[in-house]
Amino acid sequence: MRAVDIIIKKRDGGELTREEIEYFIRGYTQGEVQDYQASAWAMAVLLKGMTPRETTDLTMAMAHSGEILDLSGVVPFSVDKHSTGGVGDKTTLVVEPIVAACGLPVGKMSGRGLGFSGGTLDKMESIPGYRTNLTTSEFINQLKDIGLVLTGQSADLAPADGKLYALRDVTGTVQSIPLIASSVMSKKIAAGAQAIVLDVKVGVGAFMENLEEARSLAELMVDIAHLAGRKAVALLSDMNQPLGYAVGNALELKEAINTLRSESNVPADFREHCLVVAGHMLALAGRVKDEESGHAVAMAALDNGRAWERFRSLVIAQGGDVKSIEQPDLLPQAEILETVPAPVSGYIQRVDARIVGETVVSLGGGRARKGDPIDYAVGVIVHHKVGDKVEVGYPLFTIHSNDKDRLAEARLAVLDAYRWSAKPVARLPLFYGVIKG
Ligand code: URA
Repeated sequence: MRAVDIIIKKRDGGELTREEIEYFIRGYTQGEVQDYQASAWAMAVLLKGMTPRETTDLTMAMAHSGEILDLSGVVPFSVDKHSTGGVGDKTTLVVEPIVAACGLPVGKMSGRGLGFSGGTLDKMESIPGYRTNLTTSEFINQLKDIGLVLTGQSADLAPADGKLYALRDVTGTVQSIPLIASSVMSKKIAAGAQAIVLDVKVGVGAFMENLEEARSLAELMVDIAHLAGRKAVALLSDMNQPLGYAVGNALELKEAINTLRSESNVPADFREHCLVVAGHMLALAGRVKDEESGHAVAMAALDNGRAWERFRSLVIAQGGDVKSIEQPDLLPQAEILETVPAPVSGYIQRVDARIVGETVVSLGGGRARKGDPIDYAVGVIVHHKVGDKVEVGYPLFTIHSNDKDRLAEARLAVLDAYRWSAKPVARLPLFYGVIKG
């Protein structure tokens, strides 16, 4: 077999056999298939698609490109969540400590920013010293000791996805149902979770812009989980406007900390989103009878401070500077802050999440090339949500930048993210449905 023939077959719309998929993924993992070949192949998959059978074979080939963890002897039951990527999506930072505080161990391997969407690892790395490169044995020991781990994909788990994920970020090959489904599910299968809640984002700030595509992705991932013997449920959640107010790594971390500490300025949409996701995790793991009871149990763990305590222990366990989360002013801060006033009075009809996400990348908060360093401090805070009434001259959004020229471009870009209406506008729903398979 030759990699080039597999690329050509997919380019011409052919259906790859399991052997061809395994050959290509094994070759890429071992360095025999080069980045430029994997880029061409990923583009061919994006343009020509894959059948559910090919996607399942791709998922299993990527999951088996490294070790598959078996956590059954480590914790009684392990649950995980995964988002398909959005703007302002710091859900993991709040949900995982909530669920762990409810007595359910959560071991999560997260990713970095992908395209315009932020990544949990980048957010956590805003904490000085926080390690995201735990080895598999460190992952297992920490899960056993404190019931909570939030790290990067270790090199020995689904290494094919680790390589392909970084490559797709910079080659315009993120937005593909088979590539997203196999990327997410190979990691989840390899990391050993017995139950998985999938947060499938839909809207202009998501990789799936319409509900039909998001539903297909969600159904495919739930089916793959079941084939691999795992429990799974997928939530279809809105990503037309940013989730919460903050977009940008350290800014999002601060918003997550405020939420965990139940501060007064917590965005209601973000808090509710976290409680719903946590409720589903507790229900899927059989801790509560259904997701509504899970929501109530999760709220109690958030409100009584136990979730915040779990987050502190997570940061300590992974070497992070705990002072910087107790006093978030110690986290990276941008040099220039500019609050932009509303140019008109009216109801907000649109805050385009993709424009906001892309602006944060252009401020330095995301990557243009594989492995680029990022600026944790930069970002945008939107002060209002769709449906809010705002008077002309009132604060609309604040840009945090380390560069004057980039700030000027960001101001124009984000202003363009807004659409206004003289008449009242309905608020956006948080969720569009649940797929249980
Ligand atoms: N999250 C992932 O892990 N992979 C993708 O491809 C997209 C979102």
